[in-house]
Amino acid sequence: MHRDELLPGETFDVLVAGGGVTGIAAALAAARQGAKTILVEPRPFIGGNAATGLCIHTFLTKNGCQVVYGIAQEIVDRLVEAGGAVGHVRLPDGYVHSVTPVDADLFRMETTAMLAQAGVLILYNTALVGAESHGGEVRRVRVASKSRLGWLAAKVFVDATGDADLAALAGAECREGWTGSGAMQPVSMMLRAVGVDTHRACDALAERPPAYATKKGVDRPFPVYFHGTFSRWNKLLRELGVYDHDNHQFWTNTVWPNQLNVNASRLAHVNGNDPLSLSQATVELTEQLRKLSRFLRDHVPGFEGASFIPNAFVGVRETRNIKGLYEINEDDIRAGRRFADAIGQACFPVDIHHPDGKSQQHIDIGGDGAYDLPYRALVPAGFANLLAAGRCVSVSEYAHGATRNMAPCMTTGEAAGVAAAMAAASGTPCPELPIAALQAKLLEAGVYLGERAAAPERVAAE
Ligand SMILES: Cc1cc2nc3c(=O)[nH]c(=O)nc-3n(C[C@H](O)[C@H](O)[C@H](O)COP(=O)(O)OP(=O)(O)OC[C@H]3O[C@@H](n4cnc5c(N)ncnc54)[C@H](O)[C@@H]3O)c2cc1C
Repeated sequence: MHRDELLPGETFDVLVAGGGVTGIAAALAAARQGAKTILVEPRPFIGGNAATGLCIHTFLTKNGCQVVYGIAQEIVDRLVEAGGAVGHVRLPDGYVHSVTPVDADLFRMETTAMLAQAGVLILYNTALVGAESHGGEVRRVRVASKSRLGWLAAKVFVDATGDADLAALAGAECREGWTGSGAMQPVSMMLRAVGVDTHRACDALAERPPAYATKKGVDRPFPVYFHGTFSRWNKLLRELGVYDHDNHQFWTNTVWPNQLNVNASRLAHVNGNDPLSLSQATVELTEQLRKLSRFLRDHVPGFEGASFIPNAFVGVRETRNIKGLYEINEDDIRAGRRFADAIGQACFPVDIHHPDGKSQQHIDIGGDGAYDLPYRALVPAGFANLLAAGRCVSVSEYAHGATRNMAPCMTTGEAAGVAAAMAAASGTPCPELPIAALQAKLLEAGVYLGERAAAPERVAAE
């Protein structure tokens, strides 16, 4: 036993770093396969970016077919039951074809219960700050807990940090920002408005048909998602110092008739991996939201009596991605590609906020509107017992615009959890896991794998 172990004498089958949607799905999936699982999270709560008030995108293709199931759907079902979701709602005219708004706090409550039930040990207030690896094998990770530094050991590790922190610290090759320039998509901070007349706010703001829904205890449908621009107020917004450009876009969602989550702040040229850059962005975006709140209260119908609550942290769209055995690319998304080693499907289109912070690009998925997520994109090249999932999987910057959203993140998270548990139990290196056995376990767990022919027995690097 090492004297500097954080939890003396404990060795885990699977260690998941990061408790966002991805880490939650990964830890749950691993524990449900019987693995002794620990989830390490620096914040005193789980959820990551899902704790900021965002719709889960996206379960349904442009043709209205649901392709995302498994743990992602299970969470939505639990939230509907708890009053924290309204299910999947078709959006007639948007860059997504359906929306799944969820309440961030109820999301945290339900997923905390699910992890506890599955026997996952969640270590809060603990960040991964180092990794010891030899010959492509991660031995243990260095963590900074509330009161001390220490090491944690496991048989298999899953990087669900969003930023590929674990992979980078272990020495895996990663791409940071866009190839060549290192540019990253801008960051944003969510704003919650409480005490809103959402019908009037929607009438005043929506530029395209909103999504309406209802739920138990609410007698008439209310707007659960609408979006548009603040073009009508361009001059005023510049005068108030909210934005330095015109036609700023916003998105709102809610599961409550009198609240709105507002996604309308943006800051460019921020590196989410740089503590100073991120800290300065926190100050600037909090100020942007203070000014935006005053604007909404004083000038937009429906917000007159509202209270405004800025999210506690900055939402980061893009930082690092691993270089895996396969990198999902633009052609794969444009073609709606199928892969023999699929571990799930995704249908969120490409959504790239330009790094200059001034424009946004949306491109629909080709084919039937869904593409396969290949297992090889979760396997960092050269590592036997390390997987990555969620925002930091192996993708080009273009494909990242499609895979970074929460439904694909939960799908890769669940697959990484099952694969990690299998690797830990059998001692098989992650790149050599029998893919048919992995797919069989995923199917058993309710994951949708598309209508493919029999898969090959082994994953081979391309
Ligand atoms: C402003 C904004 C709006 C968005 N809108 C939508 C939307 O409408 N719908 C949608 O589906 N998606 C949206 N996304 C994308 C989506 O929310 C994220 O990409 C997704 O939630 C990422 O999940 P994740 O679990 O991979 O990463 P994260 O949510 O970032 O979670 C990573 C977790 O790892 C932890 N962590 C970080 N570093 C370490 C470390 N060193 N050690 C241990 N733990 C660590 C973090 O604390 C965090 O809890 C949006 C993103 C942003 C920023």
